[in-house]
Amino acid sequence: STFADIGLCSPLVQTCRKLGYTKPTPVQRAIIPLILNTSNNILTLSATGSGKTASFALPLLHNLSFDPYGIYAIILTPTRELAKQIQQQILALGSSWKITVALIIGGSDLTNQSIELSRQPNFVVATPGRLAELCRDDGSGLYRPNLRKVKFVVLDEADRLLAAKSGFERDVAEVLLQSTTKQGEDGKRVRRDCRTLLFSATMTRSLKSLEEMAGAGVGKLPL
Ligand code: AMP
Repeated sequence: STFADIGLCSPLVQTCRKLGYTKPTPVQRAIIPLILNTSNNILTLSATGSGKTASFALPLLHNLSFDPYGIYAIILTPTRELAKQIQQQILALGSSWKITVALIIGGSDLTNQSIELSRQPNFVVATPGRLAELCRDDGSGLYRPNLRKVKFVVLDEADRLLAAKSGFERDVAEVLLQSTTKQGEDGKRVRRDCRTLLFSATMTRSLKSLEEMAGAGVGKLPL
């Protein structure tokens, strides 16, 4: 099958061709239609090099054209280097449009990042600690990002992000959930119907229990 067969719009199909992606990889064939045609949260086991970045970037770019206002998707990944690579790949795949992709990682200026988020980029690619810091109401006077339009949260290397001892798990929760919940609110900082896409090289106990909870209808993702 081709990128057009799996439902992507023609500007994206052309960009894939330009980048030398002749046909979708197996993970792309499996995941892209699920993102485009269902409202499911998805847990994917896939190795690096399998084309997993494009497997979420392409359908998110496709959907974005229907919903271009506000921060549309947050992609969380454990390292700065991975975050940079993901940002570059989204920009390359989205080169038919004027999309904006903020890179929110440690080691760069906090105030500039806060200003960048106030401009409502289409995508935010972040390491969890830095984005959590920017979301925190710590009286610093920094603008806190408005995540109410966020329709997709992607957890890249979810096994590492959700490992109980990594510290990332708390950061991820801090980004997605409000610190205080008013009556009638669902406690999420992101859109009510926000979907979660988890990518992991390995199945871990915390992913397994997350999957079981979601399957049992207990505790809906995100988290
Ligand atoms: P990833 O698994 O996302 O780290 O991707 C690994 C590499 O494969 C990246 O450099 C992509 O640019 C490339 N890639 C992704 N999808 C395809 C495809 N369908 N055909 C050829 N290369 C691809």
